[in-house]
Amino acid sequence: MVGVIPLALATLALLLAWVAPGLMARQRQFRRAPRASLVAWQAVTLGGVVAAVAVPLSALPLVLDPDEPMGRPWVLVPAVLASTAILARLLYAGHDVGTELRRVRQDHRQLVDIIAGHDGEHTQLRILEHPTPTAYCIPGRHSRVVLSQGVLDSLPPAELSAVLAHEQAHLRGRHDLLLEFFTVVHHAVPSRLRSAAALAEVRLLVEALADRAAVRRSGEVATARALMALAGSRTPAGDTGATLGVGTTAPVRLRLLADGPPHPALPAVAYLYAAGSATLPVALLVAAWL
Ligand SMILES: [Zn+2]
Repeated sequence: MVGVIPLALATLALLLAWVAPGLMARQRQFRRAPRASLVAWQAVTLGGVVAAVAVPLSALPLVLDPDEPMGRPWVLVPAVLASTAILARLLYAGHDVGTELRRVRQDHRQLVDIIAGHDGEHTQLRILEHPTPTAYCIPGRHSRVVLSQGVLDSLPPAELSAVLAHEQAHLRGRHDLLLEFFTVVHHAVPSRLRSAAALAEVRLLVEALADRAAVRRSGEVATARALMALAGSRTPAGDTGATLGVGTTAPVRLRLLADGPPHPALPAVAYLYAAGSATLPVALLVAAWL
């Protein structure tokens, strides 16, 4: 039984960090349950980090036991080095990504506050004098919802209200923090092992989640029409994640709207999978110390 648990944790870390995201990005049916899917993505990501950091901690009882053949402290060195490297990369990426996001957002907000008009009633809302229909939000402490005059001129009230519900869902749900968390982990993973598909999937799920809020306020038809009206629009700084807009995901989201709500088993499976991914590393660590 020597070293079985540290080995299991190391394997689990690899599975959760590198194998699971690629597989999950291909399970398209879960897009119909965006909230449960996002919980699963968070649980898998956190589970991977916890499993990796837990490897040396789970080997500690073996090292401390004088009767164990592995009872020599040096066996811990590679595991401690690997865990420290993972934590250091996460902290570095967290600082890097966070600083850059906040800088781009602050610059963009200042620009919008200078060039856009605003509505006295809605202090968050900024109107850009531009004929192209555009709508996006700048998240953060001083958040803004930005609409172009083109949106106000071309969308009927129900569609406009769907657009506002979508942007407000991003801000209220702090979807920016969720995306920042995934972006940090994405950057902390060595570049050859990064899965761009995983990050794209999480971004799509966040958009699908905000679309749900739009459907609740304005119905499916108005939401779909609003999505079509904005499908060709570009969001400034959207590729950095500093602002959240419609982007290029509109066709997929239109299909999701047409598909309607998921089978009740789908979110249940996602939540169960999330619970397993988050608790298994902790359970293994506890077992190592018993
Ligand atoms: Zn959005």
